[in-house]
Amino acid sequence: MPRVNPTVVELPASIPFVAPEESERELGQLFKARLGANEGNFGPSPLAVEAMVTAASAHAWKYGDPTGFDLRLALSERLAVAPETIVLGAGIDNLLGLIVRIFSDAGDPIVSSLGAYPTFNYHVTGFGRRLVTVPYASFHEDLDGLSEAVHETSAPIVYLSNPDNPMGTWWSAAAMVGFAQSLPETTLLVLDEAYAETAPDDAIAAIGALPDNVIRMRTFSKAYGLAGLRCGYAIGSADVIGQFNKVRDHFGINVMAQKAALAALQDDDYLAATLDNIADARERIAAIGQANGLSPVESATNFVTLETDRDGAFAMALTKALMTSQVFVRKPMAPGLDHCIRVSAGRPDELDWFEEVLPTAIGQCY
Ligand SMILES: *Cc1c(COP(=O)(O)O)cnc(C)c1O
Repeated sequence: MPRVNPTVVELPASIPFVAPEESERELGQLFKARLGANEGNFGPSPLAVEAMVTAASAHAWKYGDPTGFDLRLALSERLAVAPETIVLGAGIDNLLGLIVRIFSDAGDPIVSSLGAYPTFNYHVTGFGRRLVTVPYASFHEDLDGLSEAVHETSAPIVYLSNPDNPMGTWWSAAAMVGFAQSLPETTLLVLDEAYAETAPDDAIAAIGALPDNVIRMRTFSKAYGLAGLRCGYAIGSADVIGQFNKVRDHFGINVMAQKAALAALQDDDYLAATLDNIADARERIAAIGQANGLSPVESATNFVTLETDRDGAFAMALTKALMTSQVFVRKPMAPGLDHCIRVSAGRPDELDWFEEVLPTAIGQCY
């Protein structure tokens, strides 16, 4: 047996993310409603599809442009920032790992919320850093608590998603500016804006409104419907963004992803139509929940978290009963949140099926 890095030896062998495909294999049936991973169920822009079809023969044999020049230029024009302040990654998940590696050392404390987006935690423990968590307050990530924890531990990184996953709640841009200003200048705020497009305008601070110790994460996986391609980006100061070039995988954003994302960015009409579809789906999920005794949490994302009036065991049983009924959903796991289930903004046919099987699934859990 070759020697394994001691940090890796200590990590659990299990894969923390059970894919819906894995559940389908276990259950021996396909899902009719894929509502568990907050994907873009309405699909990508036809322009993005066309770009991929063209790229399949014309470009797939090439390595992608390691600088991602065209896509970064388009993003920089859209956001009115310099291209040097944007770095591309194979999804936000890829960039989160690089952030932990670049902006902290082995053993450092890193602050996040208890029950927040788990992939960040996966990288924190994977690189041998120490996770410090702060409980949610009223289904929101607790800004004062997070800031206190940073000051108490001198953490070099604090992670926050706004709007939040798994609760769908959000803070205003003004609150985010206040939070960033409350942190030491030496602490990096990783502001995960995976749901920036679905959020109300006043939840997303203007570019430039946040101090230089903030890095903002965006993705083509959610509203743009391209999760499988793996394309995301981060926006920050040129000094912060410049560090990535020292360690990132320069050919990691594949050529199809670069072409498709660029095309998707050009199709504002399609994005607007998708955002309408997502808003309709959110309303419908809330209504279906209410009709079945589940209370919707107001959401700024492409999912709705539904509160059961029971406990975590009940919500887990309901998740399983829905899976058996060919509906893929997930649930928050942290205490105080774990009595909820999380339902992604699916297509109307998927929500029809969810609506049909939900009463029976609930009945099976008592
Ligand atoms: C879905 C999600 C991501 C993943 O984004 P990718 O670009 O697909 O890696 C990151 N952060 C949050 C909060 C998410 O909900």
